[in-house]
Amino acid sequence: MKSRTKVVVIGGGIAGCSTLYHLTQEGWSDVVLVERNELTSGTTWHSAAQVTNFGMNQTMVGLKSHSIALYKKLAENPEYPINYHHGDGGIRLADTPEQMQGYRHFASMARGMEVHFEVIDAAECARRHPLISTDNLVGGLWDPLDGDIDPAQLCQALAYHARKAGSEVYRNTPVTALTQHKDDTWTVHTEHGDIDCDIVVNACGYRVNEVGAMMGVHHPVASMEHQYFLTEDIQSIIDAGRRMPLIRCPISDYYCRQEKNGLLIGFYEQDCKTWGMDGIDPNFVNALCPDDLERVMDVLEGAFERMPALRETGIRSIVNGPITYTIDGAPLIGPIPGKRNAFCAIGLRAGLGEGGGHGWLLAQMIVHGEACYDTWCVDPRRFTTHTNVELTALKAIEDYQNEFRFHFPYEHRPAGRPAKTTPLTPVLAAEGAEFTVVNGWERVEYIKPSPEFHPSLSFTFDEAFDVVAAEVKNVQENVGLTEVNGFNRFEITGADRHSFLDRMFCGTVTKRANRVGLGYLLNHHGMIKCEATVANLPASDRGPERVWYGSAAASEFHDMDWLQGQIRADEDVQVRPLTNDQTILVLAGPRARDVLSVCARGDWSAEAFPWLSVRECFIGFAPATVMGVSFSGELAYEIHVPNASLYAAYLALRKAGEGHGLKLFGARAVESMRMEKGFLHWKADLITEFDPFETGLDRFVKLEKGDFIGRDALLKRQPEGARKKLVTLQIDATHAPAHGGASLMQGDKVVGTVTSGDWGHRVDKNLAYAFVESELAAEGSTMQLDLCGDLVGATVIAPSPYDPGFDRIRG
Ligand SMILES: Cc1cc2nc3c(=O)[nH]c(=O)nc-3n(C[C@H](O)[C@H](O)[C@H](O)COP(=O)(O)OP(=O)(O)OC[C@H]3O[C@@H](n4cnc5c(N)ncnc54)[C@H](O)[C@@H]3O)c2cc1C
Repeated sequence: MKSRTKVVVIGGGIAGCSTLYHLTQEGWSDVVLVERNELTSGTTWHSAAQVTNFGMNQTMVGLKSHSIALYKKLAENPEYPINYHHGDGGIRLADTPEQMQGYRHFASMARGMEVHFEVIDAAECARRHPLISTDNLVGGLWDPLDGDIDPAQLCQALAYHARKAGSEVYRNTPVTALTQHKDDTWTVHTEHGDIDCDIVVNACGYRVNEVGAMMGVHHPVASMEHQYFLTEDIQSIIDAGRRMPLIRCPISDYYCRQEKNGLLIGFYEQDCKTWGMDGIDPNFVNALCPDDLERVMDVLEGAFERMPALRETGIRSIVNGPITYTIDGAPLIGPIPGKRNAFCAIGLRAGLGEGGGHGWLLAQMIVHGEACYDTWCVDPRRFTTHTNVELTALKAIEDYQNEFRFHFPYEHRPAGRPAKTTPLTPVLAAEGAEFTVVNGWERVEYIKPSPEFHPSLSFTFDEAFDVVAAEVKNVQENVGLTEVNGFNRFEITGADRHSFLDRMFCGTVTKRANRVGLGYLLNHHGMIKCEATVANLPASDRGPERVWYGSAAASEFHDMDWLQGQIRADEDVQVRPLTNDQTILVLAGPRARDVLSVCARGDWSAEAFPWLSVRECFIGFAPATVMGVSFSGELAYEIHVPNASLYAAYLALRKAGEGHGLKLFGARAVESMRMEKGFLHWKADLITEFDPFETGLDRFVKLEKGDFIGRDALLKRQPEGARKKLVTLQIDATHAPAHGGASLMQGDKVVGTVTSGDWGHRVDKNLAYAFVESELAAEGSTMQLDLCGDLVGATVIAPSPYDPGFDRIRG
């Protein structure tokens, strides 16, 4: 066994084997995999191992496409061939028009990744799968590349090729402890000796938290028991003379694929069960949980009704094994929050289908610092402080119970709520607030017109459309108040804070006291990493000279990792999180200044406190820091208040607003208004796949200012020009918004992808942002949007269609 290597991957299931293989493909051969037993002795060996191309966003579709292509290549390699049923095809069933609408959207989205799903009616479903009945069936989504693979052979093949490329695999070598040294390198302690390395990867399946504990972290991953059974031969399958396509059923929560001449049917029962919550028997190796078909009776009946042949078929064997879930159903692939040189590939609930892609993206992150796709949807840092064991288990159960039921727009499921609240949450609930969830925070979505108001789940505009329109109108004409909780806030102090930030931002960040600036941080490839406001606070009785760095609500761990990782040893810079201590109240509208002037001392005129100013003050008797910034496009103030004084500040603002038409508004109104202003959302419109020029942020880049992270890469890329450009589009439809991921077409060619869409109530237009081919970025260019299967016109318009001169913001 080596005593020193570059990377130690811990765990020899699909996650570990794929990571090892891909590290070698990226050119790193001095890497090892350490497995406590034999390869695949965790969950992988007994997996149903279906390999679908279906995903909820382009990154998931892309990584699955990679798995499929890789598995096909491996299967066809005569040196080490494996069994892979590639391209049997698969159907996701639907029993409502809304589900069909969703499938049409996912087909539109996948098209941009060169993946061609088909939305088919019930009769066509039955034609393609002769065993199913069409009772209560509307149709389905056809995935032509669906199939299944032998999981053990796949892992052995990956390990074989990785070994051939120079890596090593140590079986029967349990990792017992991990030590991180001052220089951020690691020692991996095993039962057979120590291995020093630069980087560790946790790929330990359901034992993820045993290894997590060795480095002092808890991962939000919980295991569920999951069962399938294998049937005896079915005559109609033999008679068909071809392989049956796969079935995934959100109506009765099961999946089904052919196994030999019978079927393999797996269940996601409502009466489901977590596993290993109080520790896992060390001898649970190559093992199964006791089977319990009683538990799945509810869903079994649905499967029998869909496939009557099952009623006459015997069960050959039952498999019940642990499967891991996270709090949103997607895995955790990437850097471990708060740790250096530590990565994970954990929480895989569809590890065979996705695992090829997980290892591919993770290896790119480890070797190059970033992957070819934006990986936020799998980033371990997307959950922050609220994800303890209980919350993770509750979300895992909810996700398991809804395995094949995709989320509709604005759908926020109830488990594990409320997790993060402020003193205002019950107050706003009493005002009739409907809440959405942002990184665990309960945030006002809109104020309901009545307690019984529950818009339907749909991909079209829903019943809240007029409610949101009224909130926007009041902000436009009078003044609105909303709480923006969980907004990420760091306090940056130290003598070198400005030079540090200058290196981090690609533009000029204001150093002037009492001023606020907006800017962008790039990665070393010159792509967009973070968006942040910077506010320079002078020394006061509340603290020394300091910078307040503000960024998106979910970015707390991500941005902290990035900033901390870039501070040089000789720099005097400290970064302290304030996110959980402070909450923002946003006062927006032409009468915002009048309201502020009633409840806060001082001169708030445009001359004394212009746009992009910051000032410490009191709102009533609540200490506050007020910034003149606006995401709505109206005159607005962000009022940052310590949570202890939040209710007091709220009461003072409400009282001051009497007589000025102050009303509450919510996140949906903000979304509509920011679309009208050309303001972008981190991880929707601002992603690591594009640089700031492609994203239309030229004015925020100052190449001439000297060195900053990403500058060299930007300069190098410049001669190539923009691959795509972010544009604002007007959509010729009134029934539905453009959804993120949807494809823009010219004839049969995909020419762009939507990043955000919403109705602009003040300009009365259906608006979208999209990355389109650069030659189509000019104003007036036309194309068609695949809007849930309907082709509708889309025209490039000037950005910021509402008040393009920013006169209203300046007030
Ligand atoms: C019944 C069932 C059906 C499924 N069907 C499908 C399907 O159809 N399609 C699909 O895509 N997915 C399916 N899955 C899910 C899929 O099988 C898993 O997502 C995948 O196998 C997880 O792989 P892994 O590498 O993360 O974990 P594992 O396979 O559990 O591998 C983790 C490895 O880490 C090792 N390890 C743990 N601790 C240590 C340590 N201290 N030192 C060294 N090594 C250690 C373990 O021994 C183990 O080998 C199914 C799961 C179940 C239970």
